[in-house]
Amino acid sequence: MSQYDPLHDVNPGPHRPYPNSYWLQQTSSAQFPQTATELPATADIVVIGAGFTGLNAALELAETYQQQVVVVEANQLGWGCSMRNAGFAMPGTGRLGYAAWEKRCGVDVARGIQAEYQLAFERLERHIAACPEHAQVQRGGYLKIAHRAKAVAELRQQFDALQRYEPSTTWLDRAAIQARVQSPQAHAAIHFPQSFGINPVLLTTSVARQAVEAGVKVVEHAPVSQWQTEADGSHCLHTPRGHIRSQKVIIASNGYTPNHLHPSIHGRTLPVLSSVIVTRPLTPAELAETHLNSRELVMDTRTLKYYFRLLPDNRLLFGGRGAIRGKDANNPRYTRDLMQALSATFPQLNDLAAEQPDYSWSGWVSVALDDYPRIYSPASGIFTSMGYCGSGVTFTQLAGQRVAQLAMGAELPALPFYQSELPKFPFAGLRRVGQWLFYQANVNR
Ligand SMILES: Cc1cc2nc3c(=O)[nH]c(=O)nc-3n(C[C@H](O)[C@H](O)[C@H](O)COP(=O)(O)OP(=O)(O)OC[C@H]3O[C@@H](n4cnc5c(N)ncnc54)[C@H](O)[C@@H]3O)c2cc1C
Repeated sequence: MSQYDPLHDVNPGPHRPYPNSYWLQQTSSAQFPQTATELPATADIVVIGAGFTGLNAALELAETYQQQVVVVEANQLGWGCSMRNAGFAMPGTGRLGYAAWEKRCGVDVARGIQAEYQLAFERLERHIAACPEHAQVQRGGYLKIAHRAKAVAELRQQFDALQRYEPSTTWLDRAAIQARVQSPQAHAAIHFPQSFGINPVLLTTSVARQAVEAGVKVVEHAPVSQWQTEADGSHCLHTPRGHIRSQKVIIASNGYTPNHLHPSIHGRTLPVLSSVIVTRPLTPAELAETHLNSRELVMDTRTLKYYFRLLPDNRLLFGGRGAIRGKDANNPRYTRDLMQALSATFPQLNDLAAEQPDYSWSGWVSVALDDYPRIYSPASGIFTSMGYCGSGVTFTQLAGQRVAQLAMGAELPALPFYQSELPKFPFAGLRRVGQWLFYQANVNR
């Protein structure tokens, strides 16, 4: 089956299977909650999408506001990015660092954003405490590595600017980073100690279980295929399992949002495929040769980034960009590309890189034109949170709560995420042409 494509297919479901994911196959302790067998006719609020955003929104609405909430999911719980990601829990979202925020909006806003990121971490930590096996958390921090000598000066500038916001970060020179990641593509690094790795299946199912226990109904295989807004302002959502009516709807479908789900959000994000492979467990000799014996998360300074982490059973997870179109997503070429990138990062692992990985999958992240997500109301009674630009494991835990608060009329902090709508892509029909040109221009940078 070719992969769903948000710009071409009417909707993502129903009955599409989970991908060949390491997380799903290695996670026997995940406790999937009981989902609803029927779609109720009405709800106070309907949430579209059962990923981190939708589940956190639903949990907040049921727990804090005692709302009757129905989550409609096109396929199965967490079928989108929330169970496909690499499990890097890092500060921030979008593509802007503190220095960029400072330049755009001033120091006070940048500090407000930092405080918001800390709230997201705190909420994530609470979820992890409630997870079976504590979501298999691997603490050790995150290394942002200069992948070539020319990238060191700019990384150092970022480090200097970071000191005003995250003074616990440390600088690793070439010798120090080589002691932790033996690679010709590691020239210096910043270490962020607060970050950690998780198993996203354990996290998703745990948040879902909390939501269901709070009274939320999750209805699977119920893709919204038609949307009517009635004269009284209520919304009627049609799915293959029937229709449901409510005064308020939260769109939490992020990168999986079909192009024509609702006109108010049409053309405001670019769905981009991100891919991951997971190798067999590294041998003790391979671990020694790469110096990969820590549990740090690693990402490089490329424009089109590669990232990797050693998993609890010593497999290597390695990720980067995928195909442009859904119909090409399962082409073995993209798995080969990642294996070649792995081999360039670790020439010592040439034998491993010549093998087929044990697992490979990809998923749609959602890119905003100006590099950061928005939580806002695009039309009357409709609320959304999307555009995380591939960085949502930590922030969605808070963003889901924030979009629920917005739907209930609460005032959100005066920060850019909450103060404007997602800008529309100019010539939205040509988004993929722009993406292709961007890839061509940045493939080796
Ligand atoms: C390969 C990969 C690796 C990643 N790694 C990381 C990482 O390490 N760290 C990090 O911070 N971020 C990472 N991300 C991004 C992160 O996973 C996402 O930002 C986050 O999961 C978004 O959550 P969400 O709930 O908003 O969307 P999703 O989890 O994508 O959920 C959206 C849901 O909406 C449903 N849906 C869509 N349309 C409809 C419809 N019409 N009707 C009903 N349901 C619908 C979909 O089926 C889907 O389940 C990665 C993403 C990918 C693909």
